[in-house]
Amino acid sequence: MEKIDLKAFAIKAEEKKKGFRRFVTKIENQPPKNLNELAIETDKQVWQEIDCTTCANCCKTMTPTFTPKDIKRAATFLHMTPATFKAKWLIKEKKDTDWVNRLQPCQFLDLSTNLCTIYEARPDDCAGFPHLAKLKVKDYIHIHRQNMTYCPATYRFIELLKEKLQGYPAKKKLTGLKVVGKGTKRKTPVRLGQ
Ligand code: SF4
Ligand code: SF4
Repeated sequence: MEKIDLKAFAIKAEEKKKGFRRFVTKIENQPPKNLNELAIETDKQVWQEIDCTTCANCCKTMTPTFTPKDIKRAATFLHMTPATFKAKWLIKEKKDTDWVNRLQPCQFLDLSTNLCTIYEARPDDCAGFPHLAKLKVKDYIHIHRQNMTYCPATYRFIELLKEKLQGYPAKKKLTGLKVVGKGTKRKTPVRLGQ
């Protein structure tokens, strides 16, 4: 597998961002019937091409949310109490919100290897990321929209879905035009028979 060039990826993602977002919105509004099956198949394809250990951009640029269970598990792994773990590394952005990392990149990322030093005890959020085909895609695709400029796997997932769904949804044929109001010309034809 090719090493991911994050600088080149950032440029490409920025260029394609608008078109990809339009596609995602279309899918959200009118999901094709086979979307979940397509996502499962596309997810497999993505992981044949992408090796996260040549990237780690999620650990460098985002934070997981740490649930109480995540905190307990990671703290135990590091032989600490949850209170010490939180005091050392986490912050609550607002009252009643989730615990997140104080630092970026994540303190548990080994930058020389791109490996997670608490891999066995990492938060569930990290274990499931980037959640490409884990849940009903329609309900999760807004997350892919946010992540596709940071995560090469998400970007590739959207790119492949876009290729597979080219021309979807088929455009409705215009069945005729009618005059609107007092014969005002409109740039967008009014469809009849909808
Ligand atoms: S999940 Fe995405 S951002 Fe994280 S390492 Fe893999 S490809 Fe990179
Ligand atoms: S806990 Fe591990 S997998 Fe999660 S962000 Fe930190 S380094 Fe990455």
